[in-house]
Amino acid sequence: MDSELRELYQQVILDHNKSPRNYRVIEHPSHFCDGHNPLCGDTINIYLTIAEGIVKDISFQGSGCAISKASASLMSSIVKGKTIEEVKSIFEKFKDMVTGKLDVDLDSMGKLAVLAGVKEFPSRVKCASLAWHTLINAIDKKQEAVTTE
Ligand code: ZN
Repeated sequence: MDSELRELYQQVILDHNKSPRNYRVIEHPSHFCDGHNPLCGDTINIYLTIAEGIVKDISFQGSGCAISKASASLMSSIVKGKTIEEVKSIFEKFKDMVTGKLDVDLDSMGKLAVLAGVKEFPSRVKCASLAWHTLINAIDKKQEAVTTE
């Protein structure tokens, strides 16, 4: 990756950390889950309104490092309006991208591509994945808190 692109990605992460999207509580969520990454101290609460198999609304709150917050913010803006099937397939691709398992086509990842660099930092993979694991648990109605340990 050239340094100009790296710089751009950094800017996106900083922007989402500073002004996280969908950072609020949904009063009567149809689905919710809490997540915790003890390695870094990141915590997240995810709230969803799912109807007819579509994510009608999503929000989150929490505290943690810039990567965890930016990832949650990006995730929330990307999954809103998607079907459950679409959300799960994006999650699979995201997992492959951040763990470096597959050479994921970054063009197909949209804004999530800004997090591709975490694969070089194994401890950061958990920060970037926390919001997604928590989201999937919420969707599957597994309401016990997620932990990355
Ligand atoms: Zn973290």
